[in-house]
Amino acid sequence: MGSSSPPPFDPPPAHPFQGGESITERLRELICAAGPIGVDVFMGEANAHYYATRDPLGVSGDFTTAPEISQMFGEMVGAALADCWDRAGRPDNTVYVELGPGRGTLAADALRVMAKAGLRPEVHFVETSPVLHEIQSQTHKNAEWHESLLTITPDRPLLLVANEFFDALPIRQWVGGEERQVKLEGENFAFTAGGSIREDSPEREAVASEIAAQLDVRGGVALVIDYGHVRSGVGDTMQAVRGHRFANVLADPGEQDLTSHVDFEALARAAQATPVEIDGPVEQGEWLEALGIGQRATALAKASPDRAAEIVAAQARLCDPDAMGKLFKVMAIRHRGWPVPAGFKR
Ligand code: SAH
Repeated sequence: MGSSSPPPFDPPPAHPFQGGESITERLRELICAAGPIGVDVFMGEANAHYYATRDPLGVSGDFTTAPEISQMFGEMVGAALADCWDRAGRPDNTVYVELGPGRGTLAADALRVMAKAGLRPEVHFVETSPVLHEIQSQTHKNAEWHESLLTITPDRPLLLVANEFFDALPIRQWVGGEERQVKLEGENFAFTAGGSIREDSPEREAVASEIAAQLDVRGGVALVIDYGHVRSGVGDTMQAVRGHRFANVLADPGEQDLTSHVDFEALARAAQATPVEIDGPVEQGEWLEALGIGQRATALAKASPDRAAEIVAAQARLCDPDAMGKLFKVMAIRHRGWPVPAGFKR
């Protein structure tokens, strides 16, 4: 990585207003003192508070992710990584790295499949939330936690996974050449400019370029899975989710999940500042089917006939075009000497 690009996951800048106030109060004071703030500042501050203070996943939380829907998701990820590792010549010092591992469910399912293939990597998690760190540590006793990729045992090839991680990192919004900002209207937060909106995310791009830089030095492969688009485009994709429903993005900062569509073209461009290979993105449904989720569902249903309907429903939710199958994409970033992972057409 060039010395000019900022390392990702640096500790966020010191909060301008410390003390006992709520995040809403802090953001209001910030705007009163210094004027409107960027969408990235609002989103970054809100999500830092949100993730630091709760487990947002599952029925009792705000949203459900693919690994929480079914063990089959993590199993397919594990199978893809184990196969790629096998075809890379089974390097014995490979490390498993996950960015934003949530409850650690994906890692548990993936590592179980990898172990069956003879792959037992060191486990490293990049996680900023103390609440989720605690939950992850209950399942993953021997994992190590990091604030960034930079502290992970050097020189080892990476098998890296980021599922629904990038969507939570802050974006900026632009209307023409002008940055769209968040201002106050009385007590309420409101956007400054309206119109045809473009989004970008230096923060996401910095992480993509750091992944690529690490892969270039160490070898290995990264799977980035998220909801988003294959080509950069125009549109306001920011959304807030609370209690499994969409909410007003500017209401109650820090109490609801703020995300936006991931621009895979921008991530690929950022990664390719280093000479790595990019595979995909492909649609999640196609990818899971190519990896054999259908056969896995049949086997699981046969083993637990009482759960057959649930297993079929989970497969449909992960793969169907009108559920997660089409909106979610899978992209690989890999060292140029590593093989194309399964599930990507050449
Ligand atoms: N991958 C999990 C969880 C997705 S939720 C799953 O699929 O279920 C987003 C995850 O990213 C959470 O673990 C959250 O705490 C973490 N996260 C959010 N922002 C982060 C940041 N800036 N650095 C590291 N982790 C972050």
